[in-house]
Amino acid sequence: MDGLELRQVAKPRPGPGEIRLRVRFAGVCGTDMHIYHWAPRMARRMQLPRVMGHEVCGIVDEVGDGVLGIKMGDQVSLESHISCGQCRPCMLDQRHLCEHTRYPGIDVDGGFAEWVVVPASIAWVNPPDFPPHLSAMMEPFGIAVHACGEGTGVAGQRVLVNGCGPIGLMAVAAARALGAHQVIAADLNPVRLASAQAMGASHCLNPGTHNLVKEIHALTNGEGVDVVIELTGAEAGLHAALDALRRGGDFRLIGAPSHPVSLDLTQWVRTGPTIRSIHGRRIWRSWIEAADLIANGRVDLSPLVSHVVPLEDAREAFQLVLDGQAVKPLLAVHG
Ligand SMILES: [Zn+2]
Ligand SMILES: [Zn+2]
Repeated sequence: MDGLELRQVAKPRPGPGEIRLRVRFAGVCGTDMHIYHWAPRMARRMQLPRVMGHEVCGIVDEVGDGVLGIKMGDQVSLESHISCGQCRPCMLDQRHLCEHTRYPGIDVDGGFAEWVVVPASIAWVNPPDFPPHLSAMMEPFGIAVHACGEGTGVAGQRVLVNGCGPIGLMAVAAARALGAHQVIAADLNPVRLASAQAMGASHCLNPGTHNLVKEIHALTNGEGVDVVIELTGAEAGLHAALDALRRGGDFRLIGAPSHPVSLDLTQWVRTGPTIRSIHGRRIWRSWIEAADLIANGRVDLSPLVSHVVPLEDAREAFQLVLDGQAVKPLLAVHG
C-alpha cells in the first residue's frame, strides 16, 4: 500500500500575496519517491492528506491581492523553497538555506493537481515561447546549474559527475555548456550512462565493471579531476569520488546520503579538497543562469523527458521510476 490516491478537492483560491496556476506539467522526482516510500523524515514532517508535486509549471489564472509583477496568463515555473525572507540566512542572500523553508508538495499542497495556489514570491516567469514541458524541469536543472557555478566553477576544468539520475544528467549538460574541459560521467546503470553520453559527457564510466578511481587517474594524467559533483547518495560512491579528486580540488555534494557517513579527516587535511554543500538553487541567480542556458540553446533538456503520463495515471509514473525505466517522467495536467 503506497498511500497515493487521486481525489476530487475544492479548487483553491489565492489569498493576499498568492497566485493560482492552471498546472500544465509536473515532474516526478527523487523527493517524491521518498514520500512514496514514506521515508521517516517525510513521515515526521508531512501532514496528510497532502497534494504532492514541487516541479511544476503552469499558467497564472488568478492573482491575489497585493501581488506585483505577475499577471494573469503568465507562464511560470516554481521555485520549490518558500523562504521566509526574514531569518538571518534569508537576509544574507542565502534564501535556499532559510530557517523556515516550506515546500510545495510536502508542507503545503503542491502541483500534482489541476490547480495549485502558491506565494507569488516563488514564481519564475518564463518567456511566452518557452517550451512548457521544459518549464517543469527548471527547478531540478537549477540545482545542476547551482552546482556548476559554485566554488571554482567548471570552465576549463576536468569534472566528474558521479551519479546520473536526472540532476546528474542535467549537470553533465550544464558543465559541458559552461566550458568544462572534460566531463566524466559515472553510474552503475548502463541506460543512464547512455543518457549521459547523449547529454555531452566526454567519458562514461561504470563503477560496477571498472575501478572508477583508476580509470579517472588514467584519464587525467594521474592527477584526478578538478571538480566532483557528487550525487550517488551512497557512502562508497562518495568515497570513490573523493579519491578521484585531485589534491586541492573542489568537491560539491548534492546527493545526501540517508545515513551519517564516515570521512577520513586526516586524508582531508593532507589532500586539501574544498567540500561544499549544494542545496536547492541560489534564488534567483541559479534561475537566471539556467534560463539563459536553455533560451540560447546551449542546453537541451528534452532528451531527459522519458515519459509523459496523464495526471489520472500518476501511479504509473511512480511505477516507471521504481522499475528503473524512467529518467524524468512528467505528469501532463493541462498539457
Ligand atoms: Zn524535485
Ligand atoms: Zn528565512
